[in-house]
Amino acid sequence: MPAKFIEEPARQVPLYGEYEVAVLGGGPAGIAAAVAAARAGRRTLLIERYGFLGGMGTAAGVTNFCGLHANVHGEMRRVVQGVATELLARIDRLGGLNAPHLILGKILAQAYDTAAYKIAADDLLAAHNVNVLFHALGAGVAMHDDKHIHALMVETRAGRQAVRAEIFIDCSGDGDLAAWAGAPYELGDNNGSMLYPSMMFRLNGIDPERAGEAWRTIPALMEQAEAAGTHHFPRKAAIVRPQRSSIEWRVNFTQLARADGAAINGLEPDELTRGEIDGRRQALDAYNFLRTVPGFEKCYIVDLPPQLGIRETRRIVGGYMLSGEDVLGCAAFEDTIGVNGWPMESHVAGDVIFKFPPIPQSRGFNELPYRMLTPERVDNLLVAGRCASMTHDGQSAARVSGPCFAMGEAAGAAAALALGGNTIPREIAVDKLQLQLQEQGAFLGQDQAIPKGL
Ligand SMILES: Cc1cc2nc3c(=O)[nH]c(=O)nc-3n(C[C@H](O)[C@H](O)[C@H](O)COP(=O)(O)OP(=O)(O)OC[C@H]3O[C@@H](n4cnc5c(N)ncnc54)[C@H](O)[C@@H]3O)c2cc1C
Repeated sequence: MPAKFIEEPARQVPLYGEYEVAVLGGGPAGIAAAVAAARAGRRTLLIERYGFLGGMGTAAGVTNFCGLHANVHGEMRRVVQGVATELLARIDRLGGLNAPHLILGKILAQAYDTAAYKIAADDLLAAHNVNVLFHALGAGVAMHDDKHIHALMVETRAGRQAVRAEIFIDCSGDGDLAAWAGAPYELGDNNGSMLYPSMMFRLNGIDPERAGEAWRTIPALMEQAEAAGTHHFPRKAAIVRPQRSSIEWRVNFTQLARADGAAINGLEPDELTRGEIDGRRQALDAYNFLRTVPGFEKCYIVDLPPQLGIRETRRIVGGYMLSGEDVLGCAAFEDTIGVNGWPMESHVAGDVIFKFPPIPQSRGFNELPYRMLTPERVDNLLVAGRCASMTHDGQSAARVSGPCFAMGEAAGAAAALALGGNTIPREIAVDKLQLQLQEQGAFLGQDQAIPKGL
């Protein structure tokens, strides 16, 4: 059936405000981008569709930072610093940060409370004089010409409004702003399939003594339950781990597919709707199984997050696309702006496949080139976070929070440098950017001493 259209009359859109830098999206990348631009003295607005910050980390209930650390020749080091360090310190002061824990015996991750993350992020942005606009859904752009964004249109409770800025940073995770502006992008692997989404949830009321290290025994219990025919699981490699309070555990267990088995596409409204509903059903199934695990008998679902967890949608094509080989080969780049120590983590049909750089032979992290942040075609735009310029395999690693903080921080600082030098982001002097990032505590790889401690 041909698509039907409704004519929408042209209208004048009120100007919400004019800024030097506008950041769309308040996840790890957007938080760091806004802080870095504002800290450099630029009038900065961060726009977020929800009423809180954290992105997938809060809105999708992730509750765990990956990619802050690397396994450097067998020794754990926290390689993502800078704005991430400031944020972690604030979460910690609120009592909301776990000590890092070992995943698969090879790499560290660090759990947190979502409430503490939200409050700490508000506080961090306020401390750096970032202007924030919550409950504002980016909905389109007005272009000056093919290469320049004039304004970002946002839908708010007060109706549609326009945000003017000299430089825009797309940290929407989905590359919304870049796509509206006409920047090229890719979707999925060679067959168009994206990483599968998951509905995260958290349980409370667990008996920590009886549960013990249940994350070690749960995979075998799942296999037994499958063999006995009492339960069926959408994927292997379930992750069930304690939060800061050991009576509360997070559950990363589900996998959302379309009827044809392909991953739910996070850009398709009907698929997202199905994903949310199926996700909650799968959460309930998983809960029913988990109550059979010793220590979990009396637990209950304390949180089903506001949205389905989307791992991958658009990946923008920029000056360089970070690849899976770069991750496994611990690649170095002249224009490095930060690093990623997380392995490839591919959420494929029915499973999660991790691929690490060689341990302990390798240094365990790859550098992130500035060119990942500069999209083709559009001149007053940077893109940071999980929608930055990466291949499907590269994104499976560098999409996690740590490298997203690093990319965001570099994008914000780069926007400020471009404004200061009256140039476009793609043409700034990257050595100046690198110097500034290092002065502010970021670790970029190259010859810089690897930070000690966790
Ligand atoms: C189920 C699941 C489990 C994961 N587990 C982990 C883990 O354990 N550790 C880890 O580090 N990472 C994990 N990740 C990955 C990680 O959470 C994300 O990749 C990371 O948050 C990406 O950061 P980002 O800033 O690029 O984008 P996001 O976190 O996606 O943030 C984007 C922000 O932009 C906002 N936004 C989007 N579009 C618009 C719009 N049009 N208008 C206004 N606002 C908009 C969103 O509301 C959101 O706040 C997981 C992801 C999923 C889905």
